[in-house]
Amino acid sequence: MQQLSSDALTFLKSVISYYVALNVPKLGKDYIDSLLLKKFRTNDLARLKPNELVDLLNFLLTRSKELFGETVAVADLEKSVRGVVNVTGVNQAYVEFLSILPVGIMENEKITTLARADLEEMVRERTAELEDAKEDLQKKIAERTWQLETERNKLKLVLGNTDDGIFALDKDDKIITFNKIMEEMTGFLESEVINKDVDDFVKIFDKENKPILCRTYCSTFRSIGHGAPGYKAENLILSGNNRQYNIRIVSSAVEETKADVSCIVTIHDITKQKELETMKFDFVSIAAHELRTPLTAIRGYLSILIDELQESEKLTTEQKSYLQKTYLSSNQLYALVENLLSVSRIERGNVRLTYETVEWAALVKETVDNFTDFAKSHNISLTFVPINSSTRVDIDKVMMGEVLSNLLDNAIKYTFSGGSIVVFLEVSDKFVTTHVKDSGQGIPRESLPHLFTKFYRVEGVQEGAHGTGLGLYISKEIVNMHGGEIWVDSIQGKGSTFNFSIPKTHGR
Ligand code: ADP
Repeated sequence: MQQLSSDALTFLKSVISYYVALNVPKLGKDYIDSLLLKKFRTNDLARLKPNELVDLLNFLLTRSKELFGETVAVADLEKSVRGVVNVTGVNQAYVEFLSILPVGIMENEKITTLARADLEEMVRERTAELEDAKEDLQKKIAERTWQLETERNKLKLVLGNTDDGIFALDKDDKIITFNKIMEEMTGFLESEVINKDVDDFVKIFDKENKPILCRTYCSTFRSIGHGAPGYKAENLILSGNNRQYNIRIVSSAVEETKADVSCIVTIHDITKQKELETMKFDFVSIAAHELRTPLTAIRGYLSILIDELQESEKLTTEQKSYLQKTYLSSNQLYALVENLLSVSRIERGNVRLTYETVEWAALVKETVDNFTDFAKSHNISLTFVPINSSTRVDIDKVMMGEVLSNLLDNAIKYTFSGGSIVVFLEVSDKFVTTHVKDSGQGIPRESLPHLFTKFYRVEGVQEGAHGTGLGLYISKEIVNMHGGEIWVDSIQGKGSTFNFSIPKTHGR
């Protein structure tokens, strides 16, 4: 027998009581009691076990059939069941009870009710499953939300604790992240700028005060997509919060499918660095200026002294050589002071070029001629190769003359006695290129990338060749200011060729 729930057993007991009650008027209570006592040790339904209760129902039915015939017995039992169900209503206990009802009784009811009960059970099970799945899903969503929240907080923490201003834009140039430093620099809170056009809040300008919009620092490379080189720029100004900041900006594209972010921008505040640099150059410039006047006097008087005492018997040869060395050192010091002044002018953007149209070949020839004696004194041959084509250029004569002098001076300084230097020109559509080729000591390959930077000197190779490491840097800046380029080809031990190009006069 299937296990009946306690509700179903109660239902069963009620049916038996009902059935007995129906039969009492027909048989008399004593007879029934005697029947029951004969079959069961007690008629106390409460004490009977579940299987005894089922047996009792079957026994009553059988006896009723014997006494009143099948139809009456069955009708009575069905009546008993309906009587109970009228009181309890159709519930789970009733459904369970139907399943243990003897065969042939309430068959139709059994089929429909049990089928419905099965269906209901299935629906219940399915609903329970769905409830479980929903609960599971809700749990997962909660977990994921928590994870995302944590990630976002982590990101906020990182962005909030950097020294740089960082903001991110979506593909429509709307701001989607704006860190604390950006808030401080612009004076706008993140909540005020989110989802708004970046150009309305982040005001960046170049040295000429021209606005730099996000289409420059983001959109131009964004179209190329992820992996594009991005944008980097120094010496820009960010104007915000009633202040001006010197900034360096770096931005890079982000693959759009991963997030809404399409461009991340970092703003590095270099105002302090710039101030220090300006102070440094101010100091260098003041010191150099102050040194120039007494140095000029020293050089002048030394030169007179040397001229006057050249043939004199008052000084020994050794003393005369001391004078020569002092004069040479004062010249080196003067060259250093001049170079420092040039560098500080360049760095502060204080160089003003005075352009004039010049036949470059003539100026080169003149400068080479001026170096002939110096080259001879080092036992080096110096040649200029003339050129037939026109070499007219618009230049600042003094400045470009300085570039050429610097290269010639280096070529002589770094070429051994007996070597040679050739200066020749090449003319193309747009440029005149000057080559200074020497057969000197050459430059190690690893030094080449640093050659045109401030204070760089190749280690160890220039024994006795004095210098400041500023000449090539100044030359590069001057050539660049003229819209040209300077570069070197060199093989260590074989010699170097320094080359620079300058644009030809417009319209030629
Ligand atoms: P410096 O005052 O030291 O000559 P420059 O800036 O003019 O400064 O040159 C930088 C360095 O480059 C030099 O110290 C030298 O090592 C190297 N250099 C420049 N010109 C030549 C050359 N023609 N041959 C070999 N080395 C050179």
